[in-house]
Amino acid sequence: MPDIAYVNGRFLPLAEAVISIEDRGFQFGDGVYEVVRTYNNHPFQLPAHLDRLERSATALKLPVPVSRVEWGEVVAKALSQTSYPESKIYIQVTRGPAPRDHQFPADPRPTVVLTVREMRPLADTIRVNGVEAITMDDLRWGRCDIKSVNLLANVLARQRAKEAGVFEAIFVRNGRVTEGSVSNVLLVRDRQLMTAPEGPDILSGVTRSLVIDLARREGLKVMEQHPLQEDLHAASEVFLTGTTVEVLPVVRIDGKPVGSGVPGPISRVLTSRFETLTT
Ligand code: PMP
Repeated sequence: MPDIAYVNGRFLPLAEAVISIEDRGFQFGDGVYEVVRTYNNHPFQLPAHLDRLERSATALKLPVPVSRVEWGEVVAKALSQTSYPESKIYIQVTRGPAPRDHQFPADPRPTVVLTVREMRPLADTIRVNGVEAITMDDLRWGRCDIKSVNLLANVLARQRAKEAGVFEAIFVRNGRVTEGSVSNVLLVRDRQLMTAPEGPDILSGVTRSLVIDLARREGLKVMEQHPLQEDLHAASEVFLTGTTVEVLPVVRIDGKPVGSGVPGPISRVLTSRFETLTT
């Protein structure tokens, strides 16, 4: 079964899907996206992802020519054409093709793309042992809450992490921890969770809010305020959240162990609570 793409109303094999070189997504990164994964072949938290897509598009004054009901239908149809154990659904909407000129075209024809590929979850050993991270200056723009396809700073950060032999790069802006290059960052200290607040500094993660709810239900206090960089090193636990990483403990940052250097009890509890949402 080939990977499937949906382009402007048409399904076709991914390898055959093309868009114009004048597409503003290609020319300017003028577009928004979402990544949704399935559990038991069912899209997880699709409404929350569609809410965020709408918020991102509205912030960019980008008209999305697909209604919520239609997204649901397209996703279901795309999934029915694949036979993966689990799938990763990628949605992208750009301001479409137009002669290259910075200002918006008078009559935009947005490009709508959706792809489905196999979702290969992280290996169990990675989850059990936790991962390493490095910190990095947050060089991104001032609207990190918009999930735009402009990911250059994230790309460079993840590449730096790879070259350092670690999983994630954690962004720090003016001494304050924002988030990871592909994840949100939460830390534990004195049985309290701390994570950067929703706002322009971070992407409002779908997984982040689910995990915050789970933590509160466990009786943990959650402080949505920016941790300082030094808090990362004073924390008993640090973990990442995200659609693809789920809840992932970080056991070393910049070469120094976090807490006792192994995944801690709160990450473990939240991992197992999170599993109950996905099964
Ligand atoms: N921050 C960034 C920069 C991301 O790319 C992601 C992954 N989408 C997240 C946070 C986590 O968001 P979510 O839980 O919605 O996948």
